[in-house]
Amino acid sequence: MSSLPPVRGKLTPNAPLAPLVWFKSGGAAEWLFEPADADDLAAFLAALDPAVPVMGLGLGSNMIVRDGGVQGVVIRLGKAFASVEQLDETTLRCGGGASGILVSSKARDWGIGGVEFLRSIPGTVGGFVRMNGGAYGRETCDILVDCDIVLRSGERRVLANADLGYTYRHSNLPEGAIVVRATFRGFLKPSDAIQAEMDRIAAAREESQPLRSKTGGSTFKNPEGHKAWALVDAAGCRGLRRGDAQVSEKHCNFLLNLGEATSADIEALGEDVRARVKAQSGVELEWEIQRVGVAK
Ligand SMILES: Cc1cc2nc3c(=O)[nH]c(=O)nc-3n(C[C@H](O)[C@H](O)[C@H](O)COP(=O)(O)OP(=O)(O)OC[C@H]3O[C@@H](n4cnc5c(N)ncnc54)[C@H](O)[C@@H]3O)c2cc1C
Repeated sequence: MSSLPPVRGKLTPNAPLAPLVWFKSGGAAEWLFEPADADDLAAFLAALDPAVPVMGLGLGSNMIVRDGGVQGVVIRLGKAFASVEQLDETTLRCGGGASGILVSSKARDWGIGGVEFLRSIPGTVGGFVRMNGGAYGRETCDILVDCDIVLRSGERRVLANADLGYTYRHSNLPEGAIVVRATFRGFLKPSDAIQAEMDRIAAAREESQPLRSKTGGSTFKNPEGHKAWALVDAAGCRGLRRGDAQVSEKHCNFLLNLGEATSADIEALGEDVRARVKAQSGVELEWEIQRVGVAK
């Protein structure tokens, strides 16, 4: 790519993505753009050659970045997109880069219940909206009213919940669209009861998941009528290794980078697991983790 449109934010060529994702593996972004605000993002995308691919990046908590890196422009929403405001008694307006912890903590402070589950999902509002992130019986589509997006063309749109075609861990967000803001609605609930629920969720997480590891969260979607972790376990994959990539002993729907794993190791381990599960139970596991970029 020879020249890119001028911006007010930060545009970095050949930017390593490994430090920005949970697995701590993978190659660089051809360009990394951290827009100053939504107008900066919209103007940039409108002027950018339409042939250049664009991808959003949150905390990289659900992502394998392949070792050859990501072509085109990766867009990361920084501080300018991390605000959380109260719109009315039960409604929050959140920047696309705000974390789940921040959103759920603000909701608690304002006595807005129903948002506690975001406490336990490491990610940003943009990632939650795109992935329909969920836990403990609730998911993003239960609280989303609407979201502001910037399309790949630079055009700005407001999408209502129904426009996103939500299903389990999936939305119809258009390719290359970036979520810059979302409105969430909960219900009135005393702050101390919200805090108690957040504590319960945090403790349950701590007990069942390798939270301080280099991982990408749940690797495979739960197939209809099954738990992915149980199928992986039954296929004998708990603790399975490939180089420094390992199926977690603690929660076997999590893959780990024990230190020096490449993204190729991690992805190949995931494919090994899929093949073993297919052979053992006949079930075809579907990746939940987004695998992006090109192999080396
Ligand atoms: C320890 C651990 C536990 C987890 N537990 C859960 C869980 O219980 N439930 C659950 O649902 N997930 C879980 N996850 C996965 C992950 O946290 C969620 O999928 C989360 O929604 C990802 O958010 P993110 O902002 O980090 O997105 P990323 O991982 O950076 O990206 C995920 C996808 O969203 C897109 N994206 C990111 N930001 C934007 C944006 N602003 N606009 C448009 N697209 C965007 C990316 O292009 C990519 O396709 C877990 C992960 C870890 C590491």
